[in-house]
Amino acid sequence: MAKDKDPKTIREIEQIFAPIKPLMTNTEAYYESSRCLFCYNAPCTLACPASIDVPLFIRQINNGNLTGAAKTIYLSNYLGNTCGKVCPTEVLCEGACVYTKMNIKSLDIGRLQNFATNTAILAKKKFFKIPGFNGKSVAVIGAGPAGISCACQLRTAGYTVDIYEARNNPSGLALHGVAPYKITNLEALMEVEFLREQVGFTVYYNKRIENQEDIKNLEKNYAAVFLGIGLGSSAKIKIEGEDKTNCIGATEFIEQIKTKPIEQPVAKKVIVLGGGNTAIDAASECARLGAEKVILVYRRSEKEMKAYYFEYDQAKVAGVVGMFNAAPVEIVGLSAVEGVRFIRTDTVNGKLITIPGSEFVIDCDLVIKATGQLKQTRMLENIPGLTVNETGKIIIDPATGQTTNPRYFAGGDAVNGGAEVVNAAAEGKMAADGIHAYLSKLN
Ligand SMILES: Cc1cc2nc3c(=O)[nH]c(=O)nc-3n(C[C@H](O)[C@H](O)[C@H](O)COP(=O)(O)OP(=O)(O)OC[C@H]3O[C@@H](n4cnc5c(N)ncnc54)[C@H](O)[C@@H]3O)c2cc1C
Ligand code: SF4
Repeated sequence: MAKDKDPKTIREIEQIFAPIKPLMTNTEAYYESSRCLFCYNAPCTLACPASIDVPLFIRQINNGNLTGAAKTIYLSNYLGNTCGKVCPTEVLCEGACVYTKMNIKSLDIGRLQNFATNTAILAKKKFFKIPGFNGKSVAVIGAGPAGISCACQLRTAGYTVDIYEARNNPSGLALHGVAPYKITNLEALMEVEFLREQVGFTVYYNKRIENQEDIKNLEKNYAAVFLGIGLGSSAKIKIEGEDKTNCIGATEFIEQIKTKPIEQPVAKKVIVLGGGNTAIDAASECARLGAEKVILVYRRSEKEMKAYYFEYDQAKVAGVVGMFNAAPVEIVGLSAVEGVRFIRTDTVNGKLITIPGSEFVIDCDLVIKATGQLKQTRMLENIPGLTVNETGKIIIDPATGQTTNPRYFAGGDAVNGGAEVVNAAAEGKMAADGIHAYLSKLN
């Protein structure tokens, strides 16, 4: 499948995936921060799931107090640097900025956030006071954004925190999922290390918690457990031919690109099935890596796509072509993928219908399925009294993160079904406060 224009070196990969939000220079940061109107009841802060005091950190940058700016950010959001890079700021803080109401470009809040936090990470600044051991230990399952954020907040209340992580690296999907032109692997890992060094949690890697014995051991050794396990593998679409070679789930495909970019030359003609942000990312990454044709096919109309409009626009610029109102019915080919058979669809009285006799085949040599991720229900069945809803999301008290088994708390994708890094970070932090309140009452 290798093509002449496939990238062959790490340098070429870095150029293909150059950051879409590059680090500001001092002059840029000074100029940009000077534009802030320091609004009362700042809409940017209200729109931030982590409630960062945006005008305050922008003013600190403008005054040259970068350490203070980074501290303001980190006291609200442990993943301040990652979020500055990967947050969909266009629909959060920047989308709410008052300038947008005046048809003026909003403040570049994400990049200002990166500017301050990057400086703090490189200088190994310390922002958190860690008290002595309070006598209780908490286990965290999963070293993704939710687990890391929960662990940091628990450490500031004096708990010993051990994180059990199935993979050999922290950061979860911020490392394995988020597009490389938003954040590099090194950047994602550096922030976790910056936090670990100053707050002092322990991570046990390659340690998947999977059966009743693992759960019993945790219950024996820890006063409470936080579930930050995220979601599972890509969902099947349940059509004929899905098991053919070169038909792959989007999260698995993106993980390969992020961990083995050179070993994995992208196909010539790619079909991506789905209309969410993951579908857009997979398509965009294929186009950037040199696929000759990348068609994103969604079974509903363009305006019904769940993906952010600005992400779809960026994908089109990268060369992705959208096709709408077409549902896959079969992956065709002998043992490997040769194409996809589709049927045309329409929405009638709010219901999606297929149009008889409208089937057609598009040739391709790679199919990427991006129609959602499974939930980790099998693992969760090992926890007595824990309830999930009909779609497999863990049920929690939204004010504390406590599950229906009082010793277990949860947050992030496993609870919200798949949102953003900033939601997982905010939910992990809230659950840590819930754990602290619960364990304090047991004294
Ligand atoms: C392709 C893709 C692109 C994305 N792009 C963006 C983006 O641009 N911006 C953005 O803000 N968000 C993005 N997201 C969403 C974001 O990455 C997630 O919302 C966020 O990472 C969720 O954090 P989490 O901690 O809940 O779960 P995860 O990040 O999934 O972390 C869960 C961790 O738990 C570990 N684990 C799971 N089960 C076990 C077990 N049984 N035992 C031990 N460890 C376990 C996993 O290995 C993983 O490290 C994207 C997601 C995907 C799939
Ligand atoms: S809304 Fe915009 S101008 Fe107002 S405080 Fe926030 S960033 Fe500054």
